[in-house]
Amino acid sequence: MTDHAPRSARNAPRYAACVMPGAHRPLEIRELPAPDLEPGAALLHTMYSEVCGTDVHLHHGRLDVPFPIIPGHVSVGAVAALRGNELCDIEGERIREGDVVTFLDVHETCNACYHCLVAQQPTRCAKRRVYGITYSANDGLLGGWAEAIWMKPGVKMVRLPKDLAPETFIGGGCGLVTALHAVDMAHVRLGESVAVLGVGPVGQSIVALAALSGATEVIAIGAPDDRLAFARRMGATQTAGLDLTSEERIAAVRGVTRNRGADVVIEASGSPDAVSQALDMVRDGGRVVICGHYTDNGPVEIHPHWQINRKHVEIHGCWGSQYHHFHRAVQLAARFGDRVPWGEMVSNQYGLEQAGDALAAVESRRAIKALIVP
Ligand SMILES: [Zn+2]
Ligand SMILES: [Zn+2]
Repeated sequence: MTDHAPRSARNAPRYAACVMPGAHRPLEIRELPAPDLEPGAALLHTMYSEVCGTDVHLHHGRLDVPFPIIPGHVSVGAVAALRGNELCDIEGERIREGDVVTFLDVHETCNACYHCLVAQQPTRCAKRRVYGITYSANDGLLGGWAEAIWMKPGVKMVRLPKDLAPETFIGGGCGLVTALHAVDMAHVRLGESVAVLGVGPVGQSIVALAALSGATEVIAIGAPDDRLAFARRMGATQTAGLDLTSEERIAAVRGVTRNRGADVVIEASGSPDAVSQALDMVRDGGRVVICGHYTDNGPVEIHPHWQINRKHVEIHGCWGSQYHHFHRAVQLAARFGDRVPWGEMVSNQYGLEQAGDALAAVESRRAIKALIVP
């Protein structure tokens, strides 16, 4: 329906969506009408949408969201309809029906507020909206766990390069984008050592990107053992399990860094204790990035003299991502997808009706990554 007038809602086709009606409530399937596409909007037929740890947190009521919601913030789909001839990617190339695209879940950052323009931290913009998180299902098909997704005007779509299988990109997915942001912040230099706390989807991609950045030691710390084994395939040179005491894990990092500690430590576990351990594992003057605490997992005691001040350590918090992180993540997956087994991180695929099972699998850590295939 390129450039056609919007259809009347009465005749619009309907699409099934998996709706999370509220915290701890069972998921349900609802039928929603196709949107009346406004100029600059598009409709995707969903191929894959991922189940992220954030979706588990949403279901536990740990983020303030407008239930009922359609979860799913990173997705891949085929363009089924678009309105207007002006829809282009950032290279100025037209987006066309049939294109296989992904899109940055974050949009409507205003480019007019203090955070956007002065601080240049648009991830803190109050106008920011996020697919699968900040929209109610009553607003329409604005989450990925649905047969179709409404691309509002201004949403940044990226066409998947020809040599990038959708399964490879979505295998990395949200965790890959977050990992790229965190590794950017850590300024990993060639030949440095990097310790990664947490071996979920974010930690696994941090391991891969640290290795691609030229780190000569990449130490993955976490559990269970099969995830540590997978981390080796992602590029870890050493692993340490949670069967070790925290002192033993810190000693393991010191053991491969001539007792100095790692140049860079990135926390992606979500455990408050890991933040304190990160400060003990980093070398004097090293860098620590915290990206595992997207939700409130509680406090931890830090000793400012010994762990921060005297160590002269740099600490960064990493929240959300911008278009450039997303764009580069797609290009990286295309370039290195044959070497880094992102696609194999997906343990299971689930239909819309099985989304509850998918959430349970991610929550129990039976799956590193689960996909919804509507
Ligand atoms: Zn996510
Ligand atoms: Zn703003």
